Amino acid sequence: MSSERDRKRAFALSGRADVRDAALAMLREPGDGALVVRGRPRWFILKCPCGCGDDISINLDSRTGPAWRYYQDKHGFTLFPSIWRESGCRSHFIIWANRILWFDGYDDEPDESDLEQTVLSALNLDERHFAEIAQELDQIPWAVLAAARGLVRKGLAEETDREHGGWFKRRWAGAPGFWHTEVL
Ligand SMILES: [Zn+2]
Repeated sequence: MSSERDRKRAFALSGRADVRDAALAMLREPGDGALVVRGRPRWFILKCPCGCGDDISINLDSRTGPAWRYYQDKHGFTLFPSIWRESGCRSHFIIWANRILWFDGYDDEPDESDLEQTVLSALNLDERHFAEIAQELDQIPWAVLAAARGLVRKGLAEETDREHGGWFKRRWAGAPGFWHTEVL
């Protein structure tokens, strides 16, 4: 078990290769990652950013089972959903725009207030999952999640108790008991 101090908070994509061994050879430091692409994205290989020394393989090919998705844009590399190791160090983190955010509490809450109005317009009184909204809006899911939580802090939305979280609905700001008479 490594201490919190050793954890990496920066992610670096080292490159891509067509076989896994070649991708592994690119990894030097904790938090380094590489893609295995052979016709299509196959694997994302990561040297665990906690410092435990393990290499993590993440499936990117939905034909072979549950698959993660990655995004590359001007802000960097993003992976969705989170990485949660069920063995070894049991680390749980996300990679978003070349940053590694640890799940035992973000130390700097990402600010996505620019996106809040767009996300609010996609919310209604039935709960929706942030990943579905992200797909509809063509946005990075973590950005939509942060914007939705910003709306919750402002009292404009609520996160429901369903499953492990991530389900949001619009919060009606009118007087209690009267909202159902409004046309929404
Ligand atoms: Zn680890």
